[in-house]
Amino acid sequence: MAQNASVNKATNLWISRIIPLILIGAVGYASWVEIKLLCVDYLLRPSTTLHPPRPGPAIGILVIYSILLLLFVFTYARLLLTVTVNPGYVPRSKYWRALRENKAKAKGLRKQRYRKRSSRSSDESTLENAGGESAENGGVSGNGYAGEVSTAPATTKPAPGLQDFYSRDAFVCQTDGRPTWCTTCLNWKPDRAHHCRETERCVRKMDHFCPWVGGVVSETSFKFFIQFVGWSAVYCVFNLIVASYFLAEYRRETHTLYVHWLVVVCLGALFGLFNLGMTGSSLQFALLNTTTIENLSRRTKVWTMAVHMPQPPETSTGFRTISFSTATSSTDSNALAEEQTSGAIKTFAILHTKPGENPFDLGMHQNFKTVMGDHWYDWLLPIKPSPCCNHDRKDGQFAMGPVVQRMRAEAGITSSEEFSHEKKHRKPKRRRRRSQRATAADAVREFDGNQDEKRGRDTRHDRDDADDIDLEAGHVH
Ligand SMILES: [Zn+2]
Repeated sequence: MAQNASVNKATNLWISRIIPLILIGAVGYASWVEIKLLCVDYLLRPSTTLHPPRPGPAIGILVIYSILLLLFVFTYARLLLTVTVNPGYVPRSKYWRALRENKAKAKGLRKQRYRKRSSRSSDESTLENAGGESAENGGVSGNGYAGEVSTAPATTKPAPGLQDFYSRDAFVCQTDGRPTWCTTCLNWKPDRAHHCRETERCVRKMDHFCPWVGGVVSETSFKFFIQFVGWSAVYCVFNLIVASYFLAEYRRETHTLYVHWLVVVCLGALFGLFNLGMTGSSLQFALLNTTTIENLSRRTKVWTMAVHMPQPPETSTGFRTISFSTATSSTDSNALAEEQTSGAIKTFAILHTKPGENPFDLGMHQNFKTVMGDHWYDWLLPIKPSPCCNHDRKDGQFAMGPVVQRMRAEAGITSSEEFSHEKKHRKPKRRRRRSQRATAADAVREFDGNQDEKRGRDTRHDRDDADDIDLEAGHVH
């Protein structure tokens, strides 16, 4: 299994080295055919008497070809640069190196044990102890926190590295309310991150490993990838049309085929169709706010989301919750109770989407803009990075769509904005209501207890208000 993975990785690496060379060779050849053979030798200085020099078409083709070639080279260079310099990797845990060393050590010991067994002169008991110690060390230094993840209760517990999740209004989680843990990188996977086998790294909003650029297309490079395949498709289609037109003209007049133009037609058709397909699918993913990986289960996937509850539930709810301490790393129950009282505990509801729903879907227009940018020149030119690379937001690591709002409403959860707005504007009103309630209560005492139902309803409303006031004061029931 591991051998197959390493073979696949080596194959991908080999392909990723070869494909850019093929690409550069094909573009160089097409440029020689279009500029030298077609524009110069055929249109500007024709060797036959069939046509006079045609500078107009030659200059037009040269100008358009140069612009398209420039855009092709520019987008490819930008994509390569981004994939190399800023690939969108999630930082590894500080324990990762120790785990890797322990794994190498265990592997060495296994090999050593195998050699000794084959020579029938080993002391197996010693080696088994050494192997067991190695595995134990791996468990302690390598996945020390990973062990806690599987055994810790899904209640209040300080967790290193989780601040980036519980400091926001919602995040993607597992059924226990925690984000997914990468057992290779030894770190929490941010929303929409995937572990890439080829690079052995977790990648933010990973789309796919691209052999065209020898790296991972992710949130940082998806925009440039779309622009690259888009401009490549335009470049190929332009070459295809121009070479086809003059190939047909030449064949009509001379009854022979111009081989170089025929090759350009074939290359243009092959790469043009491929790039048009890639452009179409990539644009579809941008419009749906999904990735190649997420698209594999787009119609059936159920996302599990942890949604912040500004007002923790007073009674049992129809869903599970998880709480995080934002103040102290103490696990003492008294300290945690104090934190709960002081508001230093953040409670999240663990909710599920319906199958096929995308919590990050903001609508096609907004989805497109989060990837491609706000202006038309951002869509066409590979200059600015995608707006979705900016994770400095409160609602989530990525913008949350109407699906999360609906889940929140169905669970009866007040959003943070509504909660703070309510706190800001309802307090004076409640003071007034409290005084009104006191007056009303005095008035009620003067009446007989068997009054009409309307008064009973008013009394119940007053009781609800009193509960709200208690909540605002921080005394959660
Ligand atoms: Zn990973």
